Amino acid sequence: MPDLASTSVFLDFDGTVTLADTGVQVLRSLGRPGWEQIDRDYREGRIGSREVLIREWPLVAGGVDAARQVARQVATDPGFGPLADALRDAGAEVTVISDGFGLTVEEVCEQIGVACLTNAVNEQGELVFPWQDRCCPCSTCGVCKQAPIKEARRRGRTTVLVGDGVSDRKAALLADVIFAKDDLADWCDDAGVDYRPFARLRDVHRALLGREPPEPREPPEPCEAAEPREPREPPEPCEAAEPGEAAGTR
Ligand SMILES: [Mg+2]
Ligand SMILES: [Zn+2]
Repeated sequence: MPDLASTSVFLDFDGTVTLADTGVQVLRSLGRPGWEQIDRDYREGRIGSREVLIREWPLVAGGVDAARQVARQVATDPGFGPLADALRDAGAEVTVISDGFGLTVEEVCEQIGVACLTNAVNEQGELVFPWQDRCCPCSTCGVCKQAPIKEARRRGRTTVLVGDGVSDRKAALLADVIFAKDDLADWCDDAGVDYRPFARLRDVHRALLGREPPEPREPPEPCEAAEPREPREPPEPCEAAEPGEAAGTR
């Protein structure tokens, strides 16, 4: 594994830092008819991520407040904080790169103290794309995930990408080391791109740090007292991406 003091680690957000895709959850909960077809067009390579987001956002009923409420219900991988801390302690740079609606990326990253590049919804309720790169040959991304990797490489950094979805494919063509799951892993298999499979961020932790991550703090079990109780309920230069299909991640 690379020398972490000269390594820049880029983590996708939806499905990588979070355990499910917040955008998909929002659309499943609040999306008006039509979003599934737009999503299919994206997964199958007919439109880029910026166009998907621009077309889907007006289909979200209830606006930004309702959407953010749904997005906040999506759990964060408990390995995120320990991984970010350990990487920074070892001298690595850590950045979250997210090409979704950007509803909770900033608040989740702020808690851990990690930098993020993300689309966002402004005070007028409009989607904004501060990290698009119109010079990128693909020019269709919301957040261009290739641009920060190129920039890190120019500085002589070894680059690591951790991702799961369609929006990570172009970045995977540039990164030195790739950790992939779900759609991204399938795409890497098809495209002949070398990667390390992972399921949770603790797997990435183990691989990059060479040791087990600290155990996540579980809430203590309630002690079984002598008194009987009620029974408990069971408890991107951007190459065009190849089309691919995976439910629930993008
Ligand atoms: Mg993702
Ligand atoms: Zn791009």
